[in-house]
Parts: sequence; C-alpha cells; structure tokens
Amino acid sequence: MLGGSPVHMMWSNMYNPDRPTVTRRVELRRILALFRPYTAQESLVLVCILFGALLGLLPPLFTMWLIDRAIPAHDMHAVGIDVGGMVASAVIAAAIGVYQGYLNSLVGEGIMRDIRTSLVNHLHRMPLSFFTETKTGEIMNRVSSDVDNVDSVVTGTLVSIVTNVFTMVTTVVTIFILDWRLALVALAIIPLMILPLAPVGRRMYGIRKRTREKRDEIESITQETLSISGITLIKSFVRESFERARFYAVGTDLMKLEIRLAMVGRWFMAAIFAMIVIGPAIVWMFGSWLVIHGGLTIGAIVAFVAYLGRLYTPASALAGVQVQIVSAFAVFERIFNYLDMPPETEKPDAMVLGSVRGEITFDDVHFSYSPDRSALDGVSFRVQPGQMAAFVGPSGAGKTTITQLVPRFYDPQSGAVRIDGIDVRDVTLASLRENVGIVTQETYLFHDTIEANLRYARPDADPAEVVAAARAANIHDFIATLPAGYATIVGERGHKLSGGERQRLAIARVLLKNPRILILDEATSALDSANEAAIQAALVPLTEGRTSLVIAHRLSTILDADVIFVVEHGRIVESGAHEELLRSDGAYARLYWKQFRDRAAVEAVGT
Ligand code: ATP
Repeated sequence: MLGGSPVHMMWSNMYNPDRPTVTRRVELRRILALFRPYTAQESLVLVCILFGALLGLLPPLFTMWLIDRAIPAHDMHAVGIDVGGMVASAVIAAAIGVYQGYLNSLVGEGIMRDIRTSLVNHLHRMPLSFFTETKTGEIMNRVSSDVDNVDSVVTGTLVSIVTNVFTMVTTVVTIFILDWRLALVALAIIPLMILPLAPVGRRMYGIRKRTREKRDEIESITQETLSISGITLIKSFVRESFERARFYAVGTDLMKLEIRLAMVGRWFMAAIFAMIVIGPAIVWMFGSWLVIHGGLTIGAIVAFVAYLGRLYTPASALAGVQVQIVSAFAVFERIFNYLDMPPETEKPDAMVLGSVRGEITFDDVHFSYSPDRSALDGVSFRVQPGQMAAFVGPSGAGKTTITQLVPRFYDPQSGAVRIDGIDVRDVTLASLRENVGIVTQETYLFHDTIEANLRYARPDADPAEVVAAARAANIHDFIATLPAGYATIVGERGHKLSGGERQRLAIARVLLKNPRILILDEATSALDSANEAAIQAALVPLTEGRTSLVIAHRLSTILDADVIFVVEHGRIVESGAHEELLRSDGAYARLYWKQFRDRAAVEAVGT
C-alpha cells in the first residue's frame, strides 16, 4: 500500500528533477577546504605575487634616479647601475612569474582533478533513478566544462584579484612617498573608473548563467544524436535536416548570448580605457605645475606617471571583483549541487553479505517509480537456492522491475526483498551486488578489447579462466576466428559484433564473475533460431548451480524452469511449473498457446 509516512520518506530519497534546487549560499569554508591540500603551494604563490609586485616598483625608481641624478651628473657609472637595475628587476620578475605560473597550474589542475574525481565518484553512487531522469549531456557538461571553469577561477580570478590588490597597495604607498599631492590627484580619478561598472557586472552574471544552460543543452543534443544508437535512429528516419535545424537553432541562441556577453558594458569599458590615458594627462598637468614651481623633480614626475599604469589597470580589473567572486561562487555552486544530491544509501550498521545460498524472497513488495503510478502491487514469492524461476507476462507488467529490486537498483516503498532471509537493505551494496550477476538484452560493452571486456568482471582472472568462460558461453570458437582473437576491439558499445555475439560475451563475463544469483532479462529475444540455440547452450552452464531469475518472452526458453511466475499489472497472478500451469488452463496457458499458434503460423509462412 502506498501512502503514509514511511512511503513519503522513501520518496524523499529518490531523485526528483522537479524538486526545486535549493540554491544555498555556497559556504566559503567549503571552497577553501578544496585548497587545503595545496596550502604550501598557495603560500608560495602569495610570496611570488608579493615579490613580483615589489620588483615591479623598481624600474620607475631607477628611471627617476637616472633622470634626476646620473644624467645631470654626467656619471656613466651611475647610469650603468640604474639601467642594470631596471634590466635585473625585469629579468628576476619574469623568472618569478614563470615559477608562479607553474605553481598556479599545479594548484588549478590539482583542484580540478580532485573535484572531478569526487564528482565522478559521487555520480557512481547515485541511484539509477537519477540517470533515467537526467540528460547524459548535462552530466557530461557538469563533469567536464563546469570543472574546467574551476581552473579559470583558481588560476585566473583568484590569482588576479590577489595580484591586483598587492600591486595597487604597494604602488599607492610608493606614490604617497614620492609626492602626496600628486598621489591624491591620481587616486581621485579611480572612482570615476570603478563606479559605472557595478550594473554591467550584474548583467554579465545573468547572461553567463544562461550561456551555461545553453551549453548543457548543446551537450545533451550532441550526446544523444552522436551516439551509435542516436545516429542509427537519425539515419533510419532520415532526420538529418531536422537535427541540423535543431542544432543550428540552439547554436544560434548560444551565439547571440555570447555576443551579448562580449558587448555588454563595452561603452563603459571604452570609457575606462580612456581614463587610463586621461588619468596620466591630468597628472602631467598638475605635476608639470609642481615642477615649474620647484616642488618636484622631472625624474619624480616621470616615475610617477609610470606608476599610474600599476594603479589604474589593477583598479579597473578590480572594479568587477564582486561579479568575479559571485561568478566564481556560481561555478562552485553548480558542482556542489551535484555533490549534495543524495546518493544510494546503506545503513550505517550494514553488514557484509558473504557467499549466499541463493534463496530469494519477496514479501508483499509495493513499488512505484513515480507517486501516481504503481509498478509492483504486493508481490510475494520465494525461490529456493539453485532454482530457476521464470517471469512471464505482458509488456510493462513489472517483470524487469521485480529483478531490479534484488540488487537494490531501486528500493521498494513497502515490503521486503530478502536473500537467504536477510533483508537486502541490511547489507552493504557492494557485498550484495557481488552475489548478483545480470545479463540484459541491451548488452553494454566498453570500446575496448574482448579480453578487457571479459576481465571487467574479474580483473585478476588468469587467461585460462577467461578462455574457459568464453568456451562455456559458446563464444570462444567465434573469437578464435577473429584475426586479433581476444585482442579484437569490439567497437563503440560493442557494435562491431552481432547482437547474439554481444550477448554471449555478456554471458561469459557473468560466468567469470561467478555469482550465486543470476538475473537474465529477455536474454534470448530478438535472435534468430541459430543464435537462440547458441545462447541456450551458453545458458546451461550459466544457470547451473545458481539461483536464476529469468525473464523471457519466448516461453520455449523457460519450459524447464523450476517455477514460472505470471506477472500482470504489477502482481503475480499465477505460479507453478510449466505442465502444472498448462493443466490449470489460466493466464499462462493462454500465453503459451498464443505463442505456439503464432510460431506455427510464422513457420507455415516460412515454408
Ligand atoms: P517488458 O516485458 O516490456 O520489458 P516489464 O514487465 O519488464 O516489461 P517493467 O520494465 O518492469 O515491465 O515496467 C513496469 C512498469 O513500470 C511499466 O509500466 C513501465 O512503464 C514503468 N517503468 C519502468 N521503468 C521505469 C522508470 N525508470 N521510470 C518510470 N517508470 C518506469
């Protein structure tokens, strides 16, 4: 029965895309924690920035001494020292810059690796419901480009903020020492540069956010249409021009957003750049007056103007600092949103399920994928260790759902699934899944060699075991005919092999895993008779000595099952052995005779 508080609790654990994302303020502490492993490098970066800022102050001073002292005194030795000083400070600053660049990369790339790893690790622990509800492209974008943005925040935004602050502070102190009156004039210009930027920054932030959403969309379309299944669909329905138009439309949206982003505040920017030129002109004006009236040397005013660049450029960069920080937070927020999604849960005191006998019990199991529609409506059954249980019934009846509750791909809202009498929610997920092997109709293979795909089940299997599994699955002889044998690359998702070959590889893979419980979901549908026979032969060693739950649309494949459950509308309506069910002349008998007649009709047409 659905409803009631425990059910509600179960629901709150499932991923729900419609649930509004709680946009919490990302805590600064959480961001800083990411930097913790790199404290030493970050401190060195600060030291480099400080030294860089101090060294940058020297060339104008040498210029001043050159103009005011060395040249008037006709002292070539002093000229040499001043010019040498300029060159040396530039060379040392450049060398420090290179080292700082290295440290920046180290920290930026390190943090990216850490975030990407924890993101992928977290995604691995997300429930299946998350993956059925979320577009693959969005997930990919989160793991790739969002994390890339972290790099620009760490090595770009943060470093430039600190550098600009250091440069400004050191410069302000120096110009006040040089001449406080000119310094006040120079500083008075800064607010004129900064104030107009605030609204521009806010607009930029909004557009950036929409740009990122558009990129998610583009990534999703690319993922869906350029996968092997997607492209097959496009080609077979001749939808290339539709897809091109769709892609063009989204691409155009992105283009417009990017142009707006590039153009927003361009006039303000132009004004600021003008101020960077106008500022020194004002200082020259006032400075010249001071020189003429004897209050300042020519060298000092030249040095002063040289310092203005170190004042205005950082000031204009810092004008948008608030936006930069908010944007940086937004980058982390998108990542933290993912990291905060509730993963598959285990009880804190979950025990390790050792090697099981393989008894499977369903006890009044109710389950629904969404609150308004129930998929299983009070399913109860028991399969003895080593038995083969078959599930038959119309499409959408709930057969696959039943099998998916065994390895806890989903949890029932009420009732219990037990293995050897132990509730599957009381054991660790890893130990539970170690005991369960699954072969589905849609076989997934990695774009790798046959051997690597087989070894995925057990990387330490010795070569003889790999071959033995392939032999047992009736695929070894085929592999032997391939020029590269076990080193043959299977292609994207195994599409260089036939459906039947893929399926037999999947069976060999599960044989290598050697689980006590086996789930076979429609393993023999959509195959020709020869292939079906080959797979039937492969299934014999697979089901031997294991508890197996088999879903088959072709009843011919499950005639030997110890027990057959007929599933209709999320309930088990009949159960028993084949002969027994035929005799009782119920739902199973109707299903059987219908298939028998259909098959006979097909064979009659074929002859
Ligand atoms: P078939 O023989 O066609 O594979 P089945 O008996 O295995 O069907 P299930 O796949 O268990 O049926 O599906 C049972 C019901 O649950 C169906 O109505 C289906 O639409 C629904 N369903 C299956 N998977 C999901 C999902 N991820 N989210 C929401 N509903 C789902």
